[in-house]
Amino acid sequence: MNINQNYLKLEDSYLFSTIAKKVAEFTAKNPHASLIKLGIGDVTLPLAPVVIEAIKHAADEMGKQETFKGYGPEQGYAFLREAIQKYYMRKNVELMADEIFISDGAKSDLGNILDIFGLDNTVLIPDPVYPVYVDTNVMAGRKIVFIDANRQNEFLPLPDDNIKCDIIYICSPNNPTGAVYSKDGLKKWVDYALKNNSVILFDAAYECFIKSKELPNSIYEIDGAKNCAIEFCSLSKTAGFTGTRCGYTIVPKQLVKQGASLNKFWVRRQTTKFNGVPYIVQKAAEAVFTEKGQEQIKANITYYSENAKIISDTMDRKGIWYTGGKHSPYIWLKCPNNMSSWDFFDYLLNNIAVVGTPGAGFGKNGEGYFRLTSFGNREKTLEAMERFSKLF
Ligand code: PLP
Repeated sequence: MNINQNYLKLEDSYLFSTIAKKVAEFTAKNPHASLIKLGIGDVTLPLAPVVIEAIKHAADEMGKQETFKGYGPEQGYAFLREAIQKYYMRKNVELMADEIFISDGAKSDLGNILDIFGLDNTVLIPDPVYPVYVDTNVMAGRKIVFIDANRQNEFLPLPDDNIKCDIIYICSPNNPTGAVYSKDGLKKWVDYALKNNSVILFDAAYECFIKSKELPNSIYEIDGAKNCAIEFCSLSKTAGFTGTRCGYTIVPKQLVKQGASLNKFWVRRQTTKFNGVPYIVQKAAEAVFTEKGQEQIKANITYYSENAKIISDTMDRKGIWYTGGKHSPYIWLKCPNNMSSWDFFDYLLNNIAVVGTPGAGFGKNGEGYFRLTSFGNREKTLEAMERFSKLF
């Protein structure tokens, strides 16, 4: 018996446990301090009323003989795939319903997709990064090459013809940096992938925060992307589904490598290893894509976006360099006075009882940067920025 030795190569993630430990120490010493957490990546507003109605209705259906549902299609029910197809049509992206696969969230599929790729592929990952891309490839033993995202490239690295790779991760709007690729930027990646016969894994988990029609919500807005890209999306941040769990993955039929259809591979993978998302959750997700659903979730996204503006306006006033905040719930700022990420974390915690996330936790290029999020409560965000303004 051999274990998967690659698991021994995984680096322990101390980021959130260290934050929790420091916060616990602080609150033990300062029991009356009113702590404000602007570090969380989870949503806080409740599900939209149409979603709740749909859940209740679907639960009733499950309780009646005539409408009860057992196993559903592994790839998702047609009603939801078609609702997503129409959602993409509104962005002028034409998809076939059977190019859309319903999942229990983007994280699972971002990891699971690796099943359909060879272990000898080289993977290109930007640094700083959402750690899932790194760890899932370490687990499989693939070679990883990092590409620098930094202040010089505004945290939006472009392809380098000297680097050869097979699988490329792109997240836009980005977690943790909030940076968003323009169509021109994404086109450079698509051209590079087509030239090098690579596949782009495009994470669009935060696409709903994009406010400008000029910026791409989907990689398929770029010509040629269907021949080289798989897109992952999620209702987690779009509609508050972090605890309800639903997302979708798009594998175009045009995506053919070594004569094999990756869409067929993904069907085979999913039908073998996955038994679908609960009917009740898919009904809840369908409600998100109705006209009323879109209106209701927009109100929540606007709330978070206004929080982001409160934070980014404060940074503007203080002359602190940052990315994000405009088309993203994340504000990624340069720590003032050249403080390290963790020194800045301690400084904010000890002086104004505000908690954020040290950039160093997302990769070496995150050192010296800090992530604030807009998923908190309005009053607390305002209060945090007032305290911040007095401190700097
Ligand atoms: N992709 C990115 C960049 C994320 O930040 C997250 C969650 O924070 C996910 C994917 C996971 O989303 P889901 O809740 O759909 O699994």
